Amino acid sequence: MKKHNFSAGPCILPQEVLQKASQAVLDLDNSGLSLIEISHRSKAFVDIMENARALALELLGLEGKGYKALFLQGGASTQFLMVALNLLEKRAGYLNSGTWAAKAIKEAQIYDDIYEVASSKDANYNYIPKGYEIPEDYDYFHCTSNNTIFGTQMKEFPNSPIPMVCDMSSDIFSRSLDFSKFDIIYAGAQKNMGPAGTTLVIVKEDVLGKVSRKIPSMMDYKLHIDKGSMFNTPPVFAVYTSMLTLEWLKAQGGITAIEKENEKKARLMYSEIDLNPLFKGFAAKEDRSNMNATFTLENENLKETFDTMLKEAGVNGLNGHRSVGGYRASMYNALPLDSVKVVVEVMSELERKA
Ligand SMILES: *Cc1c(COP(=O)(O)O)cnc(C)c1O
Repeated sequence: MKKHNFSAGPCILPQEVLQKASQAVLDLDNSGLSLIEISHRSKAFVDIMENARALALELLGLEGKGYKALFLQGGASTQFLMVALNLLEKRAGYLNSGTWAAKAIKEAQIYDDIYEVASSKDANYNYIPKGYEIPEDYDYFHCTSNNTIFGTQMKEFPNSPIPMVCDMSSDIFSRSLDFSKFDIIYAGAQKNMGPAGTTLVIVKEDVLGKVSRKIPSMMDYKLHIDKGSMFNTPPVFAVYTSMLTLEWLKAQGGITAIEKENEKKARLMYSEIDLNPLFKGFAAKEDRSNMNATFTLENENLKETFDTMLKEAGVNGLNGHRSVGGYRASMYNALPLDSVKVVVEVMSELERKA
């Protein structure tokens, strides 16, 4: 039986996407060949790559606005480095809102002195810093839209006077935003788009070409753009499966439609966390994430009982990250509302029992 999968990443994907992807591994579109045994230069795969790139821009509303979509490898973690290599000349400003943001800072620091415009580290990242100034003479400003580990999410973005780069790994395609405010957006596929193994990078072409350093080929956005995201062998399975998820999302009505579903799930989850006296939310209310809800038990003695009840209800992946403890309900696009209902039911059952 299919579990209620709250895993933070890799995470749940639509069942029909898993079915189609499995089928393509055996036989791609009745070609008599597997998706993973054909040349990436074949027309069949080139079409897949072009379709995936076009769908990403279409769903984000960025078609015809000077952006290119790339499917690269090395995870979002490689983007921490790549952003700096491609854009950092003098100095950059970073918003330190969580573990991933801090890792992005650490990588960029290899090349230059990074300025932290603001940080919420002293409060174990339980809120999003606000009211900071972005220096006008810096090369770019970097932020993280959703802090997967701590369960905080930026509800508003600054009007940055300099190019804005955003790590959207854990909430891309989950809510409507004016994506044209950003110059570079990147997201590891495995949170809301596909299997691990590829990273979507959206680049506004006119931010490139402004640094004086030589950029190694595999790290060079311009080169990947010129080669149509096919400079070397792309991760064909991850790109194909991501394309299927994007097609699924489009068929659901796109981002605006899925956003309504995501809001329903989050509202249900947070109302239980707020109303049930056995639980306490971790993140500051105004900043809490619609993707990852973090919460703890008021009484740790109930942990074993609660964990057993969750297991019996078929719930997977609700344990929190070690730096927060407690629980984390990751409610990505493909998670059904019914799965949230199951967890909420277990939480209220625990209250009745305790
Ligand atoms: C998971 C995650 C990452 C790291 O992604 P990898 O693909 O594993 O390198 C980076 N940023 C955020 C916000 C994440 O959630």
